Amino acid sequence: MIRFEHVTKRYADGTTAVDDLSFEVAKGELITLVGPSGCGKTTTMKMVNRLIEPTSGTIHLDGDDISAIDPVELRRRIGYVIQQVGLFPHKTVLDNTATVPHLLGWTRKKARARAAELLDLVGLAPSTYGDRYPDQLSGGQRQRVGVARALAADPPVLLMDEPFGAVDPVVREHLQNEFLRLQSTLHKTVLFVTHDIEEAVRLGDRIAVYGAGRIEQFDTPATVLGAP
Ligand code: ADP
Ligand code: ADP
Repeated sequence: MIRFEHVTKRYADGTTAVDDLSFEVAKGELITLVGPSGCGKTTTMKMVNRLIEPTSGTIHLDGDDISAIDPVELRRRIGYVIQQVGLFPHKTVLDNTATVPHLLGWTRKKARARAAELLDLVGLAPSTYGDRYPDQLSGGQRQRVGVARALAADPPVLLMDEPFGAVDPVVREHLQNEFLRLQSTLHKTVLFVTHDIEEAVRLGDRIAVYGAGRIEQFDTPATVLGAP
């Protein structure tokens, strides 16, 4: 589903963020990328949705070289959730969630109907929360809107970059459980970045353990935990 082949990213200042990375993720797999700050996790993710171009190497999505997929098509195929959710402050929760499908050409009515479904799915009843503005939500609720928004156009792939990093531990555990429940029915192909090994173990079908610019281990949670 996602295949990295000898992917290297060197930034303009000479920093090698990712060094000759090769790995494959199967359809429906949830991979957690874990490791200390600065080891290349975010760079890896951003190359998948082409926010960053690799210096060398190729990335395939379902057999297609991503450098040949146009940006709108890529948006349809990949949802993206980040820690600073980046909701539009002057749009309601419902309109925030409907934004991506609307941009992709869905009618306003269809996009809003879909947004309402998604808000329900992430535990935010649209009748209660749909007309609120982002600053009328708690941190955990804002993250839920971020997840709903990323799912709204029903992309097969989700990139999640520390999506639950900004909330307190109790809320984070709720969000993790809800996300696992969602994933058990949606079966998205997920790359999930975290610096928290517990979160990586809890969520991942497999874990990519990063050291500087490289994946040092790529295996199931049981094997990663059992490793010396
Ligand atoms: P992580 O997500 O694991 O914290 P990043 O992928 O953000 O790591 O960063 C990997 C390395 O690349 C770090 O050394 C970081 O400082 C560097 N880096 C990230 N973005 C840039 C940039 N735009 N220009 C130069 N160096 C960058
Ligand atoms: P959490 O523990 O999830 O972070 P909060 O303590 O921040 O929750 O919020 C508790 C409740 O108060 C939530 O239902 C949230 O929607 C509501 N709330 C939080 N901030 C505001 C606000 N500025 N205006 C209206 N309701 C709010």
